This record gives sequence, structure tokens and C-alpha cells, in this order.
Amino acid sequence: MGDYRLLIGGELVDGDEHLAVVNPATEEIFAKVSRASRKQAEAAIASAKAAFPVWSKTPIEKRQAVVSAIADVIRDNADDLARTLTSEQGKPIAEAQGEVAWTEGYLRHYATLTLESKVVQDDETARVEVHRVPLGVVVGIVAWNFPLLLAAWKIGPALIAGDTIVVKPAPTTPATTLKLGELVKDIVPPGVINIIADDNDLGPLLTSHPDVAKVSFTGSVETGRKIMKNGADTLKRLTLELGGNDVAIVLDDVNVKEVAPKIFDAALLNCGQVCMAAKRIYVQAPIYDAMAEELVKLAKEVVVDDGAKQGTRIGPLQNKAQFKKVQDLIESAKKEGGTVLGGDRLDRAGYFIRPAIVRDVKEGNRIVDEEQFGPVVPIIKFEEDDDAIRRANASPYGLGGSVWSGDFKRARRLAEQLDAGTVWINQHITIGPHIPMAGSKQSGIGVEQAHEGLAEFTQVRVLNMAK
Ligand code: NAD
Repeated sequence: MGDYRLLIGGELVDGDEHLAVVNPATEEIFAKVSRASRKQAEAAIASAKAAFPVWSKTPIEKRQAVVSAIADVIRDNADDLARTLTSEQGKPIAEAQGEVAWTEGYLRHYATLTLESKVVQDDETARVEVHRVPLGVVVGIVAWNFPLLLAAWKIGPALIAGDTIVVKPAPTTPATTLKLGELVKDIVPPGVINIIADDNDLGPLLTSHPDVAKVSFTGSVETGRKIMKNGADTLKRLTLELGGNDVAIVLDDVNVKEVAPKIFDAALLNCGQVCMAAKRIYVQAPIYDAMAEELVKLAKEVVVDDGAKQGTRIGPLQNKAQFKKVQDLIESAKKEGGTVLGGDRLDRAGYFIRPAIVRDVKEGNRIVDEEQFGPVVPIIKFEEDDDAIRRANASPYGLGGSVWSGDFKRARRLAEQLDAGTVWINQHITIGPHIPMAGSKQSGIGVEQAHEGLAEFTQVRVLNMAK
């Protein structure tokens, strides 16, 4: 059984308490993980605060070199990290290897970013320069669907910006992140990165602490709201990457056999537990039956099994609460008149549900209105192009969305009207470290990735010099 400790002030420390981490494919405990007490959370913030004056003054080239070194250590330990990730998160080993490779890649990209200063006035009266300076201590809190990647999305920009950080993974997926702490311990100056685990109890302390300048959060809308409230007294800077209910709008001129597998993958990557997964599939009436049939066929064929087994395409749900929530949504879809094809539990231990394709549902049904975050895919019929846009935009969410068509002009006209932070044409979930990612409406506040994301880890400082 793995043993994982906290990283506080450059030291690996035992938690005052422990957490048992369950493998969702077996429901057995696979690791014992240190759990931080409130005192240890305070110590992590204090360490980050103590490290800030020197780290923030460290030349950016050196900070970039440290981030590159973290990417190197991730590459060198990729197999171990991927196995741990599959054991705690459930995702197929190939996807876990992909997450580790992405994590390395994002860090390598951050390591190339710089903080640009600019001169906005230089005349006989004054020279005015705009600089980007670090904020101080950042708290990074992440969800359980991509524990390692999401942690890197906080660590990379914080370090490049000159901030120090306290990272807190979700209670059901702390092992890989704590393993990362072990790996970076001797690479990063003490206190610059601190990693602690909790049992869903330390969030309020971390997000209201007066010594924390910013919270970068990835998780649910509900928790995002709490974080805004908790950070309000000290007016914390916030980046909130929250939930989504992305549409994929499939027009009647597509080649159904070509597009269906792409929609299937966009909906079911990581067992559907992706913030930007395709969660509402709007299909135009003439191809509705054909598309639904094709998706059902793919759902029947797909291999659902323990992610540790080679060849598994869909692993279990990550935790028991999510497993129950998805079953509940399947039942509600049936009660509300939907036709559910698939969606059975596997007859064994583990939080396994075969993908469910749900036909004949519409807005007002829970499976359409709520974020399912699991392998249940509602297919909604529409007639006119503009009607699909109106219905898609009626959601409080606005993370991403896609339009699928054989006619690029037709697709683009619709794509430009979708109210979402990212809009794709003939693809979905394609992201990258050079591409800003932002949610509109209740899917979030602020931006992650690229220069726009890095800027959020800094404060504007104007130097206005009279001549
Ligand atoms: P969650 O909000 O329940 O938990 C996320 C994290 O917040 C965990 O680490 C949790 O311990 C912590 N937390 C809980 N209460 C807190 C509080 N009061 N203050 C501060 N932190 C607290 O979310 P989840 O169920 O782990 O993740 C699923 C959700 O995350 C989905 O809605 C999904 O769409 C979203 N998500 C969004 C993105 C994105 O980039 N937009 C990416 C991944 C997941």
C-alpha cells in the first residue's frame, strides 16, 4: 500500500491524520495518504508566504528553469505517475499516460512564457510603463477528474509569475498529487510549492486566509460560489474554472458514420467526467434516428473494465457519490419519458456503468438541464439551425460547445452565436497550453492557459514618471 506525505516548507511531513484512498475499479483501499490538520494548512500558507520575497525576486529565467525541471521529473517518472493515477482515478491506463504527457507538455509551455512590460506613454510630460508583478501566495484547489493536469495548471503559471503556491487535490484523488510533491521537493526552493490533502474540510480556511492573495479553483459551480463568498472579505483574486453542459450541435449534412465516433469520444472521454465533454447532443431531425443508432452501436461495443487492463476504453466512475448521481440521472431520464439504451451497472465490484444513450428527451428533463459528469449522453432533436442555437444558449453554463457540419460556412455562422468560452467546429475538447480557456456565464470567471491565463497570476503595476 502506497504511503503519501504532505509537502510543507520543503519537507515531506506526515499528516496529523490519514485518508484512505479507494480504487474505484475494485472499491478496495489502495493507498494511505496523509491528511493535513488546520495547523498544517496554516503552516503550508506560512511557508509559501516566507518563500515569496526571494522567489518573486528570482530572475524569470531561473523560474522558467525550475518549471522545466518539474516537467523533466514528470517525464522521468511517467509510468509510476500514470499507474497511480489509474489506481485512484479509474481512467484507462492509456488516458492516464496521456494526462501525464499533457502535464509535462503544459509545464514545458509555461516555462517559455514571460511577463511582458509595455510603455503606454513616452512624451515630453511623462514616461508611463505597465508591468506585471507577482501577487503573493496562491491557493490552487482542484477536482478529481484530472488531478495531475489540473494541479500543473495552477503550479506552472504561479511559479512563472513569481508567486508561491499551496495546492490541494480532491479527497478522493490525492495520491498522484502528493507523489508529485515528493518528486519536486528537491527541485523547488522550500515553500515555493506546498501540497496538502484534506477530507473536503480545509477549503474555507484556505480560501479565506488573509495571507492568500489568489485562489485558482477547478471544480463545481456550487463550490465556486462558496469560494467567492469566502474570499470576499479579503477581496481575493479568483480564477474559477467550473462546470459545463456543453452542446454538440450536429447538422443534417454530416456523414453520420464519420461523425458519430467523434461525438462518442467527446462525450465519453474519462467516462464522461470532463468539464468540457459534449453533454447535450443536439441532432437535426433528418439524421436523428441514424445518429442515435450509431451511438448506441458504439456504446454496446465499447470495452468497459478496470482501467489498469490494457484495451479498456471506459473505466469506472471516480467515486461512489458520482456513481450514485449518474444512476439517479438515468432513472430520472426514464421517469421523464426518455428512452434509455444501455446504462447498466456491471455485475461486480467497482463503480462501473456502461454508457447510456438517452433518446427522446428535451429541455426541462434533468438529464438535459443538469451536468451529468458521467457516461449518460442525451440526444435532443431539433428542426431549424437557429432553434438549436437558441436552445443551446438557454443554459446557465457556457464552458464550451461545438457545431458539426459538412458545410463550413453554415457551421461558422452558428458557431459564432454560441455563448461559450470555447467554440469548436467539427471537433470537441481539443485544447492546448497556448490556447486560452475561459468559461462564460456560470461556467467560470477568468482565464487559464496562455498569456491571458498567466496574467491572472499577476498584478498590474504602473510606473508613471514625470519628466
Ligand atoms: P467540487 O467542487 O466538489 O470539488 C473540487 C475541489 O474543491 C475539491 O478539491 C474539494 O475538496 C474542494 N472544496 C470542497 N468544498 C470547498 C470549499 N467550501 N472551499 C474550497 N474548496 C472546496 O468538484 P468535483 O465534484 O470535485 O469536480 C467536478 C466538477 O468540476 C464538475 O462540475 C466539473 O465540470 C468541474 N470541472 C471543471 C473544470 C474546468 O476547467 N472548468 C475542470 C474539471 C472539472
